[in-house]
Amino acid sequence: MTTKNQNLSKLFTSDTFADMVRNKLIKTVEDYKKSNPHKEIYMMTWGDTTLPIPAKAIEAIIDAATKLGHQSTYTGYGEFDGNIQLREAIGNNYYKPRGVNLKPEEIFVSDGAQSGTFGIQELFGLDNVIALQDPIYPPYLEANLLAGRSNITYLDCKEENNFVPELPQSKVDIIYLCFPNNPTGAVATQEQLKAFVDYAISHNSIIIFDAVYSAFITDSNIPRSIYEIEGATKCAIEVGSFSKTAGFSGLRLGWSVVPVALTIENTVAGELTEMFRISQSIRFWGASNLAQAGGIAALSPECQQECQSIVNYYLENTRILKEGLSAFGLTCFGGNNNPYIWVTGTEGMTSWEVFNELLFKTGIVGIPGSLFGASGEGFLRLSTLGKREDMEKAVKNLENSTKKILQ
Ligand code: PLP
Repeated sequence: MTTKNQNLSKLFTSDTFADMVRNKLIKTVEDYKKSNPHKEIYMMTWGDTTLPIPAKAIEAIIDAATKLGHQSTYTGYGEFDGNIQLREAIGNNYYKPRGVNLKPEEIFVSDGAQSGTFGIQELFGLDNVIALQDPIYPPYLEANLLAGRSNITYLDCKEENNFVPELPQSKVDIIYLCFPNNPTGAVATQEQLKAFVDYAISHNSIIIFDAVYSAFITDSNIPRSIYEIEGATKCAIEVGSFSKTAGFSGLRLGWSVVPVALTIENTVAGELTEMFRISQSIRFWGASNLAQAGGIAALSPECQQECQSIVNYYLENTRILKEGLSAFGLTCFGGNNNPYIWVTGTEGMTSWEVFNELLFKTGIVGIPGSLFGASGEGFLRLSTLGKREDMEKAVKNLENSTKKILQ
C-alpha cells in the first residue's frame, strides 16, 4: 500500500502558521464582523503589498507579452537559473552599489524568495543543527521540518537584545537570519552581522540571510546585504525579492545567491553553486519570462526611483500608524527600516489578548506574535503594506477609542 510522507503528515496535524491564521484568526474576525456589521475592520495581517507595479516594469511586461503572441518574436523555455540580463542587472544594479561584486552565475532567479529559501535547504544534510531566530518567519521552520530535520535550536529575539539574537551558545551548522526582520521589524548593525559572520567562519557553519526587506533600510550604517560584511561570501547564502519594492507579490520574482567562495564539509569552491544549479534544474524550469522582463525593467535606474517611492509610501504608512498606536498607549517596536510594527500591550497580556483587545476596541487586526514562536508571546505584528487611507482611518478610529482599554 502507498505510504504517506510522515514529515508532511506531522506538519498537517500540528497546525501550520497558515492554518492558525485561517482557522483561528480569520474565524475570530469573521465572527466579530457578523455580530458587529457596522464596525470598520482594518486588516493589517498579511505582509501583502497594495501599490501597483511601477509603470516602466508594466511596459516591459506588456512588451514581453506582445512578443509571445507573434511567431517571429515568440520564445519558449528560458534558462532555469534565470535570464542572464536579469542576473546581470541584479549583480550590477542591486549589489554593486553596495560594494558587493557577484558574478551572474552565483545568482539564481526564482519565483520569489519563498521558493528560493525552500530550495536552499535541499543543499544540506538532514543531520545539520539548524538555528532559527525566535520569533521566526514560519516557512523556514516548516521547510526544515518537512525535509525531516529535527535538530533545531532557537535564538531568542526579545526587547532586551533589541530583537537581534545573541550568538549560538553551542555549535550550530546553519543559521537563518532575516534583517530587516519579519515579524519584529528589527534591523541588525554592521557589528552584529559581523559577529555572526565571524561565528560562521570559525565554526564552519553557514548563514542563510533573508534580505527581502532590504530596500526599507533608511539608516545608512545598516547593511542591506550580508555580503557587505567582510568574509560573508565564504559562509552565507542570501535571498532577495521583487515582491515588496516593485509590487511583484502576485507576479512572483526573487533570487538566491550561492557564492562560489562558499564551501562546506567535503566540498571545494564552486561545488555548492553547481549543486544549487542542478537542484534548481530538477525542481524548477525557470521563472515566468514576463516576470523576468518586468524584473529587468524594475532594476533600471529610472524604475529604481519609482520603487523607492513605493518603499517611502509604506514607510510613511508605518510612521503614521506607529505614532497613532503610541499615542494610544501601546508600546511599539520596529517600523523605522521596515514595514512591520511589533506591538505589545500591558505586562502579562498574551498575544491573543492584545489581538482581541485591538480588534474589539479599535477594529485593527494584526497577527499574534506567538504564532511566530514562543518569544513572540505578548506581541502582535502589524503590517503597513496596506493603503494610506486605511492607515489614516485606523489612526482616526484609535484617537476616538478609549485609551484605558490596554492600560
Ligand atoms: N521572506 C520573508 C521574511 C517574507 O516576509 C516573505 C513574504 O512575506 C518572503 C520571504 C517571501 O517573499 P516572496 O514574495 O519573494 O516569495
